[in-house]
Amino acid sequence: MFRRAPRGSDNTKYYEVLGVPKSASQDELKKAYRKAAIVNHPDKGGDPEKFKELGQAYEVLSDPEKRELYDQYGEDALKEGMGGGGGGPFHSPFDIFDSFFGGGAFGGSSSSRRRQKHGEDVVHTLKVSLEDLYNGTTKKLSLSRTILCKRCKGKGSKSGTTGMCYGCQGRGMKTTIRQIGLGMIQQMQHVCPDCRGSGEVISERDRCPQCKGNKVTQEKKALEVHVEKGMQQGQKIVFEGQADEAPDTIPGDIVFVVQVKDHPKFNRKDDDLYVEHNLNLTEALCGFHFVLTHLDGRQLLIKSNPGEVIKPGQYKAINDEGMPHRSRPFMKGQLYIQFNVDFPESGFLSPDQCRLLESVLPPKMSRTLTDMEVDECEETTLHDVNMEEEARQKRQQKFQEAYDEDDDEEEASMPRVQCAQQ
Ligand SMILES: [Zn+2]
Ligand SMILES: [Zn+2]
Repeated sequence: MFRRAPRGSDNTKYYEVLGVPKSASQDELKKAYRKAAIVNHPDKGGDPEKFKELGQAYEVLSDPEKRELYDQYGEDALKEGMGGGGGGPFHSPFDIFDSFFGGGAFGGSSSSRRRQKHGEDVVHTLKVSLEDLYNGTTKKLSLSRTILCKRCKGKGSKSGTTGMCYGCQGRGMKTTIRQIGLGMIQQMQHVCPDCRGSGEVISERDRCPQCKGNKVTQEKKALEVHVEKGMQQGQKIVFEGQADEAPDTIPGDIVFVVQVKDHPKFNRKDDDLYVEHNLNLTEALCGFHFVLTHLDGRQLLIKSNPGEVIKPGQYKAINDEGMPHRSRPFMKGQLYIQFNVDFPESGFLSPDQCRLLESVLPPKMSRTLTDMEVDECEETTLHDVNMEEEARQKRQQKFQEAYDEDDDEEEASMPRVQCAQQ
């Protein structure tokens, strides 16, 4: 396929760039790249061209397949895409640098094994008033969160390097083998206590003074949470990737869940608003008007139609005075008004006033009874009751009976027959 490269021509350059012999081991390659890449990094004033060469040389030689191809056929074979992982033959020298140091300083195998974890979402409840949801609002909140240390960019060390933990050989986990019987062996995996599972250690002298080698620090973050018109109970407002940062972790989201506070006057169901209004009997019969202050402060004049009689519990509705629609805030739901009618207390009317009212109101339905008919009936007396209190007493009575029955059964488990005979 490819012509074998002439001896000593273009299949030695990468070794020369890194300053290692052709027989160099992976460890020697890593050491050479690490040393040279730090010195030549453009951020540290190094030569970008040299930095790029180092990246290419290391990318090829650290991959056994590419290295073999290079040793046999030289640079041209790689440039034609053989062994290159999709797209161009080389990655950006900065990506190579970052993946080298970002995945711990002990090389490709462990950085590819160490996948990026997904951080947890942080969920907060956002209490909002019905006014907020009607008008829309912005809430300014201050949250404390963990971020990668800005000084060391989450590396934990001044040099940007970490050493491999000797306790676990960089694996983060330790295996202990126990013999638990004849020929039976139990393997136990546990987190390495020396490095607490990170697989790496930072020497005392090299620790970042800002984060003390922890790689993370705390930050106060100000967030502006936009509460849009018409948002619903339980709806989520998401700040993607804004939750706590951690090394090798894709941060989770900060999520606010809308929780609507109870309103003293208005009740909401979907896009509709409900309000209760008390009328007295005269208003219910003869007409009314009143002012209702809406959630945006507007004063609505609400009045009955001429000649209209309102019955207790009756609903009336006003179009387009409900909640703004979630996705079309210019559209609004209904405003429902439920009317209660307050009747006057007993004794309010004198007998004369009653007769006067009777002459105006619809005639009585009950026919006048003769004395004879009255004599044939039994007298009764109506008294006031509180139905809630009645129900409470009945529940208690039932409970007491159930308790007594239980008692009986325990005392008389034998003479059941006797009971049946009674
Ligand atoms: Zn730091
Ligand atoms: Zn360890």
